[in-house]
Amino acid sequence: MVFSKLKELFLDILFPKVCVGCGKEERYLCVNCTLFMSEVEFSCPVCDKTELFGRRHNGCKAKNNPDGLVSFWNYEGLAKQLTLKSKYNSLIDIPKELADYGLLTIRENKHRFSEFTGFLFDEKTIISYVPLHKKSEIKRGFDQSKIAAEHLAKRINKEVVTLLKREKETKSQTKLNKEERFLNTKNAFSFTHNKGAEQVVLVDDVWTSGATARECTKTLKENGVKKVWILTLTKTS
Ligand SMILES: [Zn+2]
Ligand SMILES: [Zn+2]
Repeated sequence: MVFSKLKELFLDILFPKVCVGCGKEERYLCVNCTLFMSEVEFSCPVCDKTELFGRRHNGCKAKNNPDGLVSFWNYEGLAKQLTLKSKYNSLIDIPKELADYGLLTIRENKHRFSEFTGFLFDEKTIISYVPLHKKSEIKRGFDQSKIAAEHLAKRINKEVVTLLKREKETKSQTKLNKEERFLNTKNAFSFTHNKGAEQVVLVDDVWTSGATARECTKTLKENGVKKVWILTLTKTS
């Protein structure tokens, strides 16, 4: 406890909490600057083509694939800056701030998010996340997707359940082509929980090609989960 307080103080001195957009103090992103983050156009999690509510198209392969996908912002500008800053400087408050702004985005875009929230608030739905490999988590000090998931869940009185474990220490997906991404994530996850989870919202920090989230979904569905929606903070376009 003392150690974490000290660490917090230390980080505050090294990386004072100022808005990455305008320099105003207290948060890493102030409310006004959230206006500079661009909203994501939703797409089908299987074919990546536009779908107004983020649902999987009826004609797109259902087996072992996600049933929906929503993201808050495009991975560019301030959203990208914040993600990288959190990653490289181990700033745990950034995924928390983004989770809060994400909930605000849902509130302000009720219609667009209606299919997702219908699923999220269903009592059968639990919240989980795409885990980092243990080694990466130790190196960074925390798992940003888990932190975002936990923060979001706390705000809506739900709990986060760890369902997956990353077995392979996969390379960063951003520098790989489609084929390499698929091979990189193939069988990278194992199922760690078997208490009959039926519906899952799976939180991840960024959707790039979707290879990772799709692989996680496959693992979940092979282990009895019936429906999976993916929620990512950002999405590359
Ligand atoms: Zn600002
Ligand atoms: Zn589709």
